[in-house]
Amino acid sequence: MSQAEPNRDNVPDPAILGRIRIVLVGAQHPGNIGAAARAMKVMGLSDLALVAPERYPDAEATARASGADDLLMAAAVHDTLDSAIADCALAIGTSARSRRTEWPLIDARNAALRAVEQATAGNDARVAIVFGRERSGLLNEELDRCQLHLQVPTNPDYSSLNLAAAVQVVAYELRVATGFGIAATTTPHEPVAAGDMEGLYQHLHEVLVASGFLDPQKPRILMRRLRRLFSRAAPDRIEMNILRGMLRSLDPRGETNRRRS
Ligand code: SAH
Repeated sequence: MSQAEPNRDNVPDPAILGRIRIVLVGAQHPGNIGAAARAMKVMGLSDLALVAPERYPDAEATARASGADDLLMAAAVHDTLDSAIADCALAIGTSARSRRTEWPLIDARNAALRAVEQATAGNDARVAIVFGRERSGLLNEELDRCQLHLQVPTNPDYSSLNLAAAVQVVAYELRVATGFGIAATTTPHEPVAAGDMEGLYQHLHEVLVASGFLDPQKPRILMRRLRRLFSRAAPDRIEMNILRGMLRSLDPRGETNRRRS
Protein backbone atom coordinates (compact mmCIF):
# COMPACT_ATOMS: atom_id res chain seq x y z
CA MET A 1 0.00 0.00 0.00
CA SER A 2 1.40 3.41 -0.89
CA GLN A 3 1.98 5.77 2.01
CA ALA A 4 0.99 8.71 -0.21
CA GLU A 5 -2.63 7.50 -0.28
CA PRO A 6 -4.81 9.88 1.70
CA ASN A 7 -6.59 8.16 4.54
CA ARG A 8 -10.14 8.88 3.38
CA ASP A 9 -12.02 6.66 5.76
CA ASN A 10 -9.96 7.49 8.82
CA VAL A 11 -8.92 3.87 8.96
CA PRO A 12 -5.47 3.59 10.52
CA ASP A 13 -2.84 2.32 8.12
CA PRO A 14 -0.71 -0.51 9.57
CA ALA A 15 1.96 0.21 6.91
CA ILE A 16 2.86 3.35 8.86
CA LEU A 17 4.02 1.19 11.76
CA GLY A 18 5.99 -0.89 9.27
CA ARG A 19 8.12 2.15 8.50
CA ILE A 20 9.10 2.76 12.12
CA ARG A 21 12.24 0.92 13.23
CA ILE A 22 13.17 0.06 16.77
CA VAL A 23 16.95 0.16 17.19
CA LEU A 24 18.54 -1.45 20.25
CA VAL A 25 22.11 -0.29 20.74
CA GLY A 26 24.47 -2.62 22.58
CA ALA A 27 21.74 -4.63 24.29
CA GLN A 28 23.34 -6.71 27.03
CA HIS A 29 20.60 -9.13 28.06
CA PRO A 30 19.20 -11.39 25.35
CA GLY A 31 16.01 -11.66 27.39
CA ASN A 32 15.44 -7.95 26.84
CA ILE A 33 15.92 -8.33 23.10
CA GLY A 34 13.26 -11.06 23.05
CA ALA A 35 10.90 -9.09 25.26
CA ALA A 36 11.38 -6.02 23.06
CA ALA A 37 10.46 -8.09 19.99
CA ARG A 38 7.30 -9.24 21.73
CA ALA A 39 6.48 -5.67 22.82
CA MET A 40 6.85 -4.57 19.21
CA LYS A 41 4.78 -7.35 17.68
CA VAL A 42 1.78 -6.81 19.95
CA MET A 43 1.75 -3.17 18.86
CA GLY A 44 2.09 -3.95 15.15
CA LEU A 45 5.74 -2.93 14.75
CA SER A 46 8.02 -5.26 12.82
CA ASP A 47 11.31 -3.55 12.00
CA LEU A 48 13.90 -4.42 14.64
CA ALA A 49 17.56 -3.48 14.29
CA LEU A 50 20.28 -4.55 16.70
CA VAL A 51 23.52 -2.63 16.93
CA ALA A 52 26.36 -4.74 18.32
CA PRO A 53 24.23 -6.86 20.66
CA GLU A 54 26.28 -8.68 23.30
CA ARG A 55 24.52 -12.00 22.73
CA TYR A 56 22.43 -12.65 19.66
CA PRO A 57 20.93 -14.96 18.58
CA ASP A 58 20.31 -16.59 21.92
CA ALA A 59 17.84 -19.13 23.30
CA GLU A 60 16.82 -16.76 26.07
CA ALA A 61 15.87 -14.09 23.53
CA THR A 62 13.77 -16.59 21.62
CA ALA A 63 12.07 -17.77 24.81
CA ARG A 64 11.21 -14.23 25.90
CA ALA A 65 9.97 -13.31 22.42
CA SER A 66 7.26 -15.92 23.00
CA GLY A 67 5.64 -16.02 19.59
CA ALA A 68 7.40 -12.95 18.23
CA ASP A 69 10.43 -15.03 17.25
CA ASP A 70 9.69 -14.36 13.54
CA LEU A 71 10.32 -10.69 14.18
CA LEU A 72 13.37 -11.54 16.27
CA MET A 73 14.86 -13.76 13.56
CA ALA A 74 14.28 -11.07 10.94
CA ALA A 75 16.17 -8.47 13.00
CA ALA A 76 18.98 -6.73 11.14
CA VAL A 77 22.28 -6.75 12.99
CA HIS A 78 24.61 -3.77 12.48
CA ASP A 79 28.06 -2.89 13.73
CA THR A 80 27.27 0.78 14.14
CA LEU A 81 24.31 3.03 14.83
CA ASP A 82 25.12 5.01 11.70
CA SER A 83 24.56 1.92 9.61
CA ALA A 84 21.29 1.04 11.43
CA ILE A 85 19.76 4.46 10.77
CA ALA A 86 21.35 5.29 7.40
CA ASP A 87 17.97 5.17 5.59
CA CYS A 88 16.03 7.03 8.32
CA ALA A 89 14.73 10.57 7.81
CA LEU A 90 14.21 10.95 11.53
CA ALA A 91 15.98 9.28 14.45
CA ILE A 92 14.64 9.70 17.96
CA GLY A 93 16.98 8.81 20.81
CA THR A 94 15.58 7.67 24.15
CA SER A 95 16.97 8.28 27.58
CA ALA A 96 15.88 8.06 31.19
CA ARG A 97 18.05 10.98 32.17
CA SER A 98 17.85 14.58 31.07
CA ARG A 99 21.37 15.44 30.14
CA ARG A 100 22.67 18.92 30.33
CA THR A 101 23.45 19.17 26.66
CA GLU A 102 20.93 20.85 24.47
CA TRP A 103 18.97 18.14 22.70
CA PRO A 104 15.36 18.96 22.01
CA LEU A 105 13.51 16.95 24.67
CA ILE A 106 10.10 15.43 23.94
CA ASP A 107 7.84 13.00 25.81
CA ALA A 108 6.84 9.61 24.41
CA ARG A 109 3.40 10.75 23.28
CA ASN A 110 4.59 13.75 21.31
CA ALA A 111 7.58 11.85 19.97
CA ALA A 112 5.20 9.18 18.67
CA LEU A 113 3.13 11.84 16.92
CA ARG A 114 6.28 13.22 15.27
CA ALA A 115 7.39 9.73 14.27
CA VAL A 116 4.02 8.88 12.74
CA GLU A 117 3.87 12.24 10.98
CA GLN A 118 7.26 11.55 9.42
CA ALA A 119 6.35 7.96 8.56
CA THR A 120 3.22 9.24 6.78
CA ALA A 121 5.07 12.02 4.96
CA GLY A 122 4.95 10.38 1.57
CA ASN A 123 8.58 9.49 0.89
CA ASP A 124 9.82 6.03 1.65
CA ALA A 125 12.15 7.14 4.42
CA ARG A 126 12.07 5.29 7.70
CA VAL A 127 11.91 6.56 11.23
CA ALA A 128 14.13 5.11 13.96
CA ILE A 129 13.56 5.07 17.69
CA VAL A 130 16.90 4.34 19.32
CA PHE A 131 17.26 2.64 22.70
CA GLY A 132 20.41 2.33 24.79
CA ARG A 133 22.29 -0.23 26.85
CA GLU A 134 20.75 -1.56 30.04
CA ARG A 135 23.64 -0.38 32.19
CA SER A 136 24.68 2.88 30.62
CA GLY A 137 22.07 3.97 28.09
CA LEU A 138 23.11 5.77 24.91
CA LEU A 139 26.44 7.53 24.56
CA ASN A 140 26.36 11.24 23.88
CA GLU A 141 27.85 10.55 20.44
CA GLU A 142 24.91 8.24 19.76
CA LEU A 143 22.39 10.83 20.93
CA ASP A 144 24.13 13.27 18.58
CA ARG A 145 22.89 11.11 15.70
CA CYS A 146 19.27 11.70 16.82
CA GLN A 147 17.24 14.78 16.00
CA LEU A 148 14.98 14.41 19.01
CA HIS A 149 15.48 13.10 22.52
CA LEU A 150 12.56 11.14 23.93
CA GLN A 151 12.00 10.76 27.62
CA VAL A 152 9.21 8.73 29.17
CA PRO A 153 8.13 10.85 32.12
CA THR A 154 8.90 8.75 35.19
CA ASN A 155 9.55 9.13 38.91
CA PRO A 156 12.56 11.49 39.09
CA ASP A 157 13.95 9.46 41.99
CA TYR A 158 13.73 6.19 40.04
CA SER A 159 13.54 7.11 36.40
CA SER A 160 15.00 4.20 34.50
CA LEU A 161 12.65 1.73 32.84
CA ASN A 162 13.76 -1.76 31.93
CA LEU A 163 14.82 -1.67 28.27
CA ALA A 164 11.95 -3.85 27.00
CA ALA A 165 9.47 -1.93 29.15
CA ALA A 166 10.68 1.32 27.55
CA VAL A 167 10.18 -0.25 24.11
CA GLN A 168 6.66 -1.29 25.18
CA VAL A 169 5.68 2.21 26.29
CA VAL A 170 6.98 3.78 23.09
CA ALA A 171 5.48 1.06 20.87
CA TYR A 172 2.09 1.61 22.50
CA GLU A 173 2.29 5.36 21.91
CA LEU A 174 3.23 4.72 18.28
CA ARG A 175 0.19 2.50 17.85
CA VAL A 176 -2.17 5.05 19.35
CA ALA A 177 -0.55 7.89 17.38
CA THR A 178 -1.15 5.88 14.19
CA GLY A 179 -4.86 6.00 14.98
CA PHE A 180 -5.40 2.62 16.58
CA GLY A 181 -6.70 4.10 19.82
CA ILE A 182 -10.04 2.70 20.88
CA ALA A 183 -12.66 5.42 20.96
CA ALA A 184 -14.89 5.24 24.01
CA THR A 185 -17.94 3.36 22.85
CA THR A 186 -21.20 5.02 23.78
CA THR A 187 -24.63 3.91 22.72
CA PRO A 188 -26.44 6.64 20.83
CA HIS A 189 -28.55 8.65 23.22
CA GLU A 190 -31.71 10.31 21.95
CA PRO A 191 -33.39 12.38 24.62
CA VAL A 192 -37.15 12.84 24.31
CA ALA A 193 -38.63 16.19 23.23
CA ALA A 194 -39.63 19.03 25.57
CA GLY A 195 -43.33 18.14 25.33
CA ASP A 196 -42.65 14.68 26.72
CA MET A 197 -40.60 16.15 29.55
CA GLU A 198 -43.51 18.47 30.42
CA GLY A 199 -45.82 15.44 30.46
CA LEU A 200 -43.47 13.78 32.94
CA TYR A 201 -43.33 16.85 35.22
CA GLN A 202 -47.10 17.14 35.23
CA HIS A 203 -47.54 13.45 36.01
CA LEU A 204 -44.86 13.63 38.71
CA HIS A 205 -46.53 16.67 40.25
CA GLU A 206 -49.92 14.92 40.41
CA VAL A 207 -48.54 11.77 41.99
CA LEU A 208 -46.41 13.69 44.49
CA VAL A 209 -49.41 15.74 45.54
CA ALA A 210 -51.65 12.66 45.73
CA SER A 211 -49.07 10.86 47.88
CA GLY A 212 -48.73 13.85 50.22
CA PHE A 213 -45.06 14.31 49.48
CA LEU A 214 -45.69 17.67 47.82
CA ASP A 215 -47.95 20.19 49.57
CA PRO A 216 -49.47 22.34 46.78
CA GLN A 217 -49.90 25.17 49.30
CA LYS A 218 -46.17 25.07 50.04
CA PRO A 219 -44.55 23.70 46.93
CA ARG A 220 -41.22 25.49 47.54
CA ILE A 221 -38.80 24.70 44.77
CA LEU A 222 -39.27 20.93 44.72
CA MET A 223 -40.50 20.79 41.14
CA ARG A 224 -37.71 23.07 39.95
CA ARG A 225 -35.15 20.78 41.56
CA LEU A 226 -36.76 17.73 40.03
CA ARG A 227 -36.74 19.44 36.64
CA ARG A 228 -33.05 20.09 37.10
CA LEU A 229 -32.47 16.44 38.01
CA PHE A 230 -34.40 15.02 35.07
CA SER A 231 -33.08 17.49 32.52
CA ARG A 232 -29.55 16.54 33.57
CA ALA A 233 -30.45 12.90 33.00
CA ALA A 234 -32.10 13.69 29.64
CA PRO A 235 -34.11 10.44 29.50
CA ASP A 236 -34.69 8.71 26.19
CA ARG A 237 -37.96 7.13 25.08
CA ILE A 238 -37.47 3.84 26.90
CA GLU A 239 -36.38 5.54 30.14
CA MET A 240 -39.36 7.88 29.88
CA ASN A 241 -41.71 4.92 29.52
CA ILE A 242 -40.20 3.38 32.65
CA LEU A 243 -40.60 6.61 34.63
CA ARG A 244 -44.21 7.03 33.55
CA GLY A 245 -44.95 3.38 34.29
CA MET A 246 -43.43 3.75 37.75
CA LEU A 247 -45.52 6.83 38.48
CA ARG A 248 -48.69 5.02 37.39
CA SER A 249 -47.93 2.10 39.62
CA LEU A 250 -46.96 4.27 42.61
CA ASP A 251 -50.00 6.53 42.29
CA PRO A 252 -51.91 6.22 45.62
CA ARG A 253 -55.20 7.10 43.92
CA GLY A 254 -55.38 3.62 42.57
CA GLU A 255 -56.11 2.23 39.15
CA THR A 256 -59.23 4.26 38.35
CA ASN A 257 -57.70 7.65 39.11
CA ARG A 258 -54.44 6.97 37.34
CA ARG A 259 -53.67 9.07 34.35
CA ARG A 260 -54.11 7.34 31.12
CA SER A 261 -51.07 8.97 29.63
N1 SAH B 1 21.39 3.73 33.35
C1 SAH B 1 20.86 3.96 32.07
C2 SAH B 1 19.54 3.25 31.97
C3 SAH B 1 19.37 2.64 30.71
S1 SAH B 1 17.85 1.82 30.64
C4 SAH B 1 20.63 5.44 31.82
O1 SAH B 1 20.55 6.17 32.80
O2 SAH B 1 20.51 5.89 30.68
C5 SAH B 1 17.97 1.18 29.03
C6 SAH B 1 17.30 2.02 27.96
O3 SAH B 1 15.90 2.03 28.18
C7 SAH B 1 17.71 3.46 27.89
O4 SAH B 1 18.93 3.66 27.21
C8 SAH B 1 16.55 4.04 27.12
O5 SAH B 1 16.69 3.70 25.76
C9 SAH B 1 15.38 3.26 27.70
N2 SAH B 1 14.76 3.96 28.83
C10 SAH B 1 14.73 3.59 30.13
N3 SAH B 1 14.03 4.47 30.86
C11 SAH B 1 13.59 5.41 30.00
C12 SAH B 1 12.81 6.60 30.15
N4 SAH B 1 12.32 6.99 31.31
N5 SAH B 1 12.57 7.32 29.04
C13 SAH B 1 13.06 6.96 27.84
N6 SAH B 1 13.79 5.86 27.65
C14 SAH B 1 14.06 5.09 28.72
